[in-house]
Amino acid sequence: MDFNDSPEEAAYRARARAWLDANAPKLDWPSLEAQGETAIKRIAQAWQAKKADAGYACITWPREWGGSGGTAIEQVIFAEEEARHALEFRFFTIGLGMCVPTVMAFADEATKQRFVTPALRGEEIWCQLFSEPSAGSDVAACRTRAVRADDGSGDWIVNGQKVWTSGAHYSDFGIVLVRTDLDVPKHKGLTMFWIDMRAPGIDIRPIHQASDEREFNEVYFSDHRIKDSQRLGAVGEGWKVALVTLMNERLAVGDSTGPDVFDLIELARTTPCFDGRPAIEDGGFRERLADWYVAAQGLKLTRKRAMTSLSRGQTPGPEASIGKLISARQMQDLATEALDRLDQYGVIAERSVDGLAGAFQLNFFLGGAMRIAGGTDEILRNIIAERVLGLPSDIRVDRHVAFKDVPTGA
Ligand SMILES: Cc1cc2nc3c(=O)[nH]c(=O)nc-3n(C[C@H](O)[C@H](O)[C@H](O)COP(=O)(O)OP(=O)(O)OC[C@H]3O[C@@H](n4cnc5c(N)ncnc54)[C@H](O)[C@@H]3O)c2cc1C
Repeated sequence: MDFNDSPEEAAYRARARAWLDANAPKLDWPSLEAQGETAIKRIAQAWQAKKADAGYACITWPREWGGSGGTAIEQVIFAEEEARHALEFRFFTIGLGMCVPTVMAFADEATKQRFVTPALRGEEIWCQLFSEPSAGSDVAACRTRAVRADDGSGDWIVNGQKVWTSGAHYSDFGIVLVRTDLDVPKHKGLTMFWIDMRAPGIDIRPIHQASDEREFNEVYFSDHRIKDSQRLGAVGEGWKVALVTLMNERLAVGDSTGPDVFDLIELARTTPCFDGRPAIEDGGFRERLADWYVAAQGLKLTRKRAMTSLSRGQTPGPEASIGKLISARQMQDLATEALDRLDQYGVIAERSVDGLAGAFQLNFFLGGAMRIAGGTDEILRNIIAERVLGLPSDIRVDRHVAFKDVPTGA
């Protein structure tokens, strides 16, 4: 097995690396974080525009929309090289990874002309409004309603609530899944629209998270008016549109970030056990470490397999589901172990005081979120069981029942 770049890939990597070395901003993250989200957003937008000018933003997108018409493997290579520069901005992941590809697939020409390039350049940010208090894993059970206005305009009036909407507070636009028909089974009565997040009738309320971030929001719709021209896909075909977004989500959510098993080994070399010896000499700890090391190697090789498929122009198989399932769990387990080992130092969140301890603490909170975002562990296991292993499918009792007749608790 040969995991080396092909000559063309090696040449692309060398070009990307040289460009990044010459252009990537050197950021002082602790001081930047102290300045707040708006300051970070400005830097992220400037960096996105710079990448767009050089043909490194949305590498696989067609040239007519500002992309480079490149291959998926080039996109992966650039992301790997960019990761070496600690420029992990979260502002564009959902928009460019999920929302705008959905707009490109379902919007009319004028809408695409208006939105695709500004999003690619980072000038406008998008969010995804699917989940609701009673529709997360089962997102097709969504209850936010859109009904035609009774003034003959063809407009839609939206009422309801979304939740866990990442980035709604800094987003300019969003794609929203709503119920337009109660008389058909749940998957058949949905419709998708793009919306202006600053238009009247939208109330965005940030959620303060355990990690001290405010990345999530509740979004309330009160008689929010949408033009019919904002519809993505046909009325009642929202589920088909949502599937395109969700397929992209599996790829966009990706693997865990931050400290890995090697950072934990490093930490264990310098952190004492209760008897004063370094933690790395503790037998029980070494056993757990061996398991994590094996899982990390499995992840690395599975990723290489996906890259080999991309390099050959094929579509990777279920690796994306396996990758997130294992890596999110590992992210949480490593962070939990690190905080145990760090004892009272585990409470230090200041990256400037102790970079590694702070990074593990952040991952302690993020690990749990990663196990839910983009499909929970259980849902990913269902996918692997049904689509990869061919096991019998989950029981879906409400599949053929009109949505209004599905029993609910209230
Ligand atoms: C970091 C993060 C970012 C997010 N960003 C967004 C966003 O931008 N936009 C958006 O729309 N949503 C977003 N979400 C919401 C996310 O999509 C949902 O949280 C997720 O789909 C799970 O839904 P839920 O929270 O309603 O949990 P539920 O679906 O209620 O699940 C509760 C528990 O039941 C289990 N369960 C549910 N169904 C099954 C089943 N069939 N078989 C076995 N077990 C099952 C689940 O695994 C889970 O343990 C985000 C979530 C996170 C954590």
